[in-house]
Amino acid sequence: MPRADELLDVLTAGGRRADRLTHVHRIGARTGTTGKWPEWVSPQLLNGLQARGAGEPWTHQVQAAELAWSGRHVALATSTGSGKSLSYWVPALTAVRGASDEYALGRIEGVRSRGTVLYLSPTKALAQDQLASVYELLQAAEIKDIAVDTCDGDTPFEARRWIQAHSDVVLTNPDYLHYSMLPGHARWASFFKRLRFVIIDEGHSYRGVFGAHVALVLRRLQRVVQYYAGSSTYSGYSNGSSNSNGSSSLSSLDKPSARGDGAQNAGGPTFIVASATTAEPAVSAARLIGVPPEAVVEIVNDTSPRGNKTFALWQPPQLVGFDEEAQPHGLAGSNIADLALTGLVDEWDLGPLDALDDALTGGPSDAGVITDAPAPELPRRAATAEAADLLADLVSHSVRSLAFTRSRRGAENVASHTQDLLSSVNPRLVQSVAAYRGGYLPEERRALEEAIRTGKIKALATTNALELGVDISGLDAVLIVGWPGTRVSMWQQAGRAGRAGADGMVVFVAREDPLDTYLVNHPEAIFDTPVEATVFDPTNPYVLAGHLCSAAAELPVTDSEIEYLGGPVALDLLHQLTERGTLRRREHGWYWTHEQNAADFTNIRGAGGTPVQVVERESGRLLGTVDAAQADGQVHNGAVYVHQGETYVVAEYNYAESIALVDRESVAYTTWSRDVTSIEITKTLQEKSWNVQLPGTYPAASPHVMWGFGSVDVHGQVIGFNRRRIPSGEILSNDSLDLPVRTLNTAAVWWSVSADLLEVAGLDMEEAPGALHAAEHASIGLLPLLATCDRWDLGGVSTAMHIDTERATVFVYDALPGGAGFAERGFAMAREWLTATLDAITGCGCVDGCPACVQSPKCGNGNNPLSKAGAIRLLRTVLTGTPRL
Ligand SMILES: [Zn+2]
Ligand SMILES: [Zn+2]
Repeated sequence: MPRADELLDVLTAGGRRADRLTHVHRIGARTGTTGKWPEWVSPQLLNGLQARGAGEPWTHQVQAAELAWSGRHVALATSTGSGKSLSYWVPALTAVRGASDEYALGRIEGVRSRGTVLYLSPTKALAQDQLASVYELLQAAEIKDIAVDTCDGDTPFEARRWIQAHSDVVLTNPDYLHYSMLPGHARWASFFKRLRFVIIDEGHSYRGVFGAHVALVLRRLQRVVQYYAGSSTYSGYSNGSSNSNGSSSLSSLDKPSARGDGAQNAGGPTFIVASATTAEPAVSAARLIGVPPEAVVEIVNDTSPRGNKTFALWQPPQLVGFDEEAQPHGLAGSNIADLALTGLVDEWDLGPLDALDDALTGGPSDAGVITDAPAPELPRRAATAEAADLLADLVSHSVRSLAFTRSRRGAENVASHTQDLLSSVNPRLVQSVAAYRGGYLPEERRALEEAIRTGKIKALATTNALELGVDISGLDAVLIVGWPGTRVSMWQQAGRAGRAGADGMVVFVAREDPLDTYLVNHPEAIFDTPVEATVFDPTNPYVLAGHLCSAAAELPVTDSEIEYLGGPVALDLLHQLTERGTLRRREHGWYWTHEQNAADFTNIRGAGGTPVQVVERESGRLLGTVDAAQADGQVHNGAVYVHQGETYVVAEYNYAESIALVDRESVAYTTWSRDVTSIEITKTLQEKSWNVQLPGTYPAASPHVMWGFGSVDVHGQVIGFNRRRIPSGEILSNDSLDLPVRTLNTAAVWWSVSADLLEVAGLDMEEAPGALHAAEHASIGLLPLLATCDRWDLGGVSTAMHIDTERATVFVYDALPGGAGFAERGFAMAREWLTATLDAITGCGCVDGCPACVQSPKCGNGNNPLSKAGAIRLLRTVLTGTPRL
């Protein structure tokens, strides 16, 4: 295995590629500290731990296990490969053993029966992985009397019955809890009654709107569990105030409960939230599980060993001409898939949760390819193609590597391109590279994990499926192909590099995108900036309404629960729902009186609306699904849809039935939809102005720069599309479409400028729209730097005259109903945000704007008009009062 500096040498090809290296950051080694497993640990389990080589735990593992055992909620936020799972399985499995480990009885007051454990992970795949590792541990411990099962939407009906009656440990996901376990809680009565531990794995993945949904699902879990525990002999409940309809007060959950070592958690089961390294893990965990922050203890001090790590930032070279690139397939007659493979176009995808969603729903395997158009003067090489080169070199040097890509398609592309490269240099190595992603069967994934662990396979190109819990650490190098969205994710992925105590290398390969380009040129934004906190808002009314209905269907919602379920927002919603006849108010609370399952009306993953099914017309085969919100733009009649490297053309899009029929067709063009978007401010919630001093004599009738944040209605309509030749971007045709206007109620941040400011910035009515539009695009690209989001979570509108502000205005909104907190963060960090935006535009070497600065991959106006120079003058004037440096 090469040392850190040797790894860097492989990367730069002995210096030949050194100019692509924009920064090198070094992280020093650390030795680990070990402790002893506590006395209360099941002796049989201890044997198993020893047999598995885990007899000497790291100190943080012991601390977490001790706290959880004593009934404290724990937020465990340490690095990848630091053994988080043992920290929770040791107390949890010991609790299940209960009376079987007789001596334990003396220590835990009140545990007469075996406890049960609920494990939640964001994906089915991860639950399967945990199941396998728990089996291995139990086998090593020769424990045969603990029933551990996964249970989710795929579990056969008869098996569910068995699991409900017999399982001690159930591994599932928030979706199954939401759709099935909670609505059918009576069938799970004996499981909920004995629930001792709830393990929430990958807690940081519950952010934004999805985080809000999961937080409310967990509040519903708390009340159901308390309902059963209140009527059982299980100790620890002080309030026991079951009223006639069986619902009991949850107010005790709002107060910090007096707990100490050895005491039961007075509020119900003990929660252990394991997550990546995030800011304020206890605060996020507390908000997630619905307890006060002081009720959660955080463990952030990682005591596992670590080797030296070299972290390189890498920018692919500019393309001098297309013939510079190896193009095994040639350009003539090639389709988008080929071009993506040969590295002419980088693909865009739907964001970091894309792969998660796919893994869980078996949904769309790719988001299609949208080429960057029109092509800038000197485009940079696609990050995936660059990564394949680096990966091939690493493999040739026997460096065990992972390449993280942004999408399933990216993973497949990098793997196959790397294989192509290796086949010409060393055909024996072709088999040592593979792709890995969530959609594979568990056996396939297990085999790949084993192969990379043992070294049979040298490199995997993977989606973020491998960022999550799966036990693969100790690789030599990690390539991060495209910014993974957050620093939290980046460190998770980086954590895979470096076997215990050994050196490792991490390379971030920038895509041609404003944020990636900014980051490789501003290393401080990566290394000197704290990781993000996990942001979500459980009182988002768009999210909360559905869960109030679900909660009422599970057990009537009582007055005393309102505070816990969202306070005044919840009360307001309950009244609205009652008025509309959705809920009924009775003496003892609010009831759901409809036949349907209330939970079916709330999709905890989606932004709402039925996903559109993409079906091959000839075979009737379901190729994938597209989110309702994106469908008009992606699967309209005539749209090119890419699936598994094959191109299809949409023959018929029936939006009323949520179905798109497609035909397999090899085409040398791609399609771009055009849309019109208007925005209406419905309520201004916050405002501020900047006191910009303009040169000359400009009396400020109103502030030259004003900022707003509030509720908006975004009206959007897809009105047509272009066919564009690949890769020239030449427009082949211009068609119109007849699709309805869609309205999104959401939150937006906006800034408006005075006419005087436009004048000082040298922007006349001809250039102002292009300057505002360019500033809007770049600012959308940079907001993810400050908020825990992805550019795909955002939308924007810019106009030289807005009817509500009566000024030139740029809006950036959360592209999710009700908002997700991102725009609000933009308002709070306004100056940092626009400063970074200006830096990104001025720092880009292009002349007229390119995808790395002011062009947007999802612009509804085909990136027209855009004025890069105008945007620079505008932003400088907004920030400093003068358009010049
Ligand atoms: Zn540029
Ligand atoms: Zn645009």
